[in-house]
Amino acid sequence: MIYGMKARKIGNFEVSDCPCEHCDGISNQEISVFGRYLHFFWIPVFPLGRKVVSECTHCKKTIPKKEFSRALQQSYEKNKSKAKRPLRHWFGLGLIGVLIIAIIIIDANVEEDPRSALLDDDMNLMTENPTMQSDSISYKIKQAFDELTAEEMDPSEFEYFTKVQNNKVLILVRIPELRHVEKEARNEAMTIIRGVAAEQKDLKGKERYIGVQGFATIMLIQTPTYTANSKLALTYELYDFYGPKPETEEE
Ligand SMILES: [Zn+2]
Repeated sequence: MIYGMKARKIGNFEVSDCPCEHCDGISNQEISVFGRYLHFFWIPVFPLGRKVVSECTHCKKTIPKKEFSRALQQSYEKNKSKAKRPLRHWFGLGLIGVLIIAIIIIDANVEEDPRSALLDDDMNLMTENPTMQSDSISYKIKQAFDELTAEEMDPSEFEYFTKVQNNKVLILVRIPELRHVEKEARNEAMTIIRGVAAEQKDLKGKERYIGVQGFATIMLIQTPTYTANSKLALTYELYDFYGPKPETEEE
């Protein structure tokens, strides 16, 4: 087994003149304490309690702690602090602790791009039913998708949002089934969106930031400087719609 429980003796001490129930003699008993631990690839990960046994030095009979006589029990309680686990039984816990601290330190140093929250807010505004009054570009993109979408997909589940800001336009579409669409066919969704945008007079000369989200992630991206059709498309490439990354104040 590459993982499991192991035990090592971590202490032992003799109790003199203790009656033995098996050989009926008064002899010495040797109490042994084992430290159990979980190992993974034979490396101790963390401790799992103790196992305590007593052995009669005369008849060699061993008994577990739950069968200890009162005298043995008292002697164990008095001496048990002598049995100490080696530090390495905590090796795994220590390693996990070091990793967690490292992650916290790294996380604190990698500051979040505030534009990420702006994009999240806009993603949340996507709707299945954009109207001509509220969002005419999305309305037209929806019309195009309703007309052109292959039969296997249900365009009534698609969501849309468009935002014009200064000389830029952000177009967001969500196609839940997008990840099941072949890569080549996914490009057609981008072609439809670009075609509608090209016909919009009020978008003329504006920089386009287009993102198409699948079930969870944005898979299709087109910006003035970046194009992607991949499950690993870089969402942050859309952040430039909101302007350059704000400078953070030096501490
Ligand atoms: Zn005995």
